[in-house]
Amino acid sequence: MVHSRHRDKQTVADEDSSRGLSTIAVHAGEARQKYGDAITDAIFCSSTFTFTDSQSVIDFIEQKQHREEYGRYGSPGEKFVEAKIAALEGGQEAVLFASGMAAIVGLLMTKLGHGDEIIFFDECYHRSREFCTKHLSRYGVVTRQVPTCDYAAMEAAITPKTRLLISESPTNPHLSCIDMERFVQIGREHGVETLIDATLATPCNLRSIEAGVDYVLHSATKYLGGHNDLLAGVVIGQSDSLEPVRNLRGVMGAVSAPHNIYLLSRGLKTLELRMDRHNKNGLAVAEFLQDHPRVERVYYPGLSTHPYYEVARRTMRGYGGLVTFLVKGADWRETADVIDAVTIPRIGPSLGGVESLIEQPMVMSYYGCTPQEREQYGIPDNMIRLACGIENTEDLIADLAQALTI
Ligand SMILES: *Cc1c(COP(=O)(O)O)cnc(C)c1O
Repeated sequence: MVHSRHRDKQTVADEDSSRGLSTIAVHAGEARQKYGDAITDAIFCSSTFTFTDSQSVIDFIEQKQHREEYGRYGSPGEKFVEAKIAALEGGQEAVLFASGMAAIVGLLMTKLGHGDEIIFFDECYHRSREFCTKHLSRYGVVTRQVPTCDYAAMEAAITPKTRLLISESPTNPHLSCIDMERFVQIGREHGVETLIDATLATPCNLRSIEAGVDYVLHSATKYLGGHNDLLAGVVIGQSDSLEPVRNLRGVMGAVSAPHNIYLLSRGLKTLELRMDRHNKNGLAVAEFLQDHPRVERVYYPGLSTHPYYEVARRTMRGYGGLVTFLVKGADWRETADVIDAVTIPRIGPSLGGVESLIEQPMVMSYYGCTPQEREQYGIPDNMIRLACGIENTEDLIADLAQALTI
């Protein structure tokens, strides 16, 4: 049993839409006066919610009451954080999931059925690709991958069975940027819905809903949470379109625990402040690496040498903290030596938190792949992915400088 409560949220989002992102991040979705007169939202550790009498159960079921029923269908903290994220993204409604992958799986499982087709740009989070090619395929959904930013190929791959066009922007780890106008236009011309995984951009750097995308998805584990201390995912879009997604989430049970939701809400309040520093660090590090004699190539959309610099400059407010680069003439071991020599970024997967993280995709996410697969996905042995945190810019650059002399 899932009950629509978007009317309440709508009011909050409308009220806040003319305000700045940090004002929205701090206040949107929250009641002005709260339980216990506290300034912060309470964490209700409650798996179920009780009713005063049988009539109130019936009233609730007949949707005369906005309230919670059972934790798998929603919780008070979740309601606030969903409204906050919807307001930040400028969308009508947000549905929170237990992780970014749960959000992707939940959305695709809701929207697709046997015989349907989806098309996605091939540079993407490897687990999203895996879900489509290994799992959705078992349910008769056909996945067509076309080269990233090849709009003609995407258009040519559309058939009467195509239900969804999917892309990340920027992509991970190549940081290619989608021309949202063209992407949205292809979808509209063919009557096919569009989905952008904007995890690497955040609503600070990219306004996907304003560009006309139907669904925006984030791994909130990354920048939205921002502190490497939680997993969460979210889909933003029109309330009508998301109602079945919310229903399936209630069946899947891919919900966040109350404490996790509190951490997300707390992290979101500083989103814009943190993104300013991530953007500053990303650009400064990319510029430093570009001029370094041991670096063969840098992937960063804020560099004029990046193939999608013009698109990025036109559509993005900043370019984020993720910088990918190739160590000149290095084999996998020499590349690993550079990673092992840094002293500030920790070695690990993920991105978007206050702590910088560094990894060699070949050793980390793509270790199980064959060399042929890695070549197909554009993952050479000498590739390093650095997710700049919010440390001081000079310190990150000095650390990289010493690591690259080794
Ligand atoms: C991390 C990530 C995901 C998956 O999110 P989880 O929260 O780890 O499940 C999806 N898309 C992108 C672009 C990511 O970076």
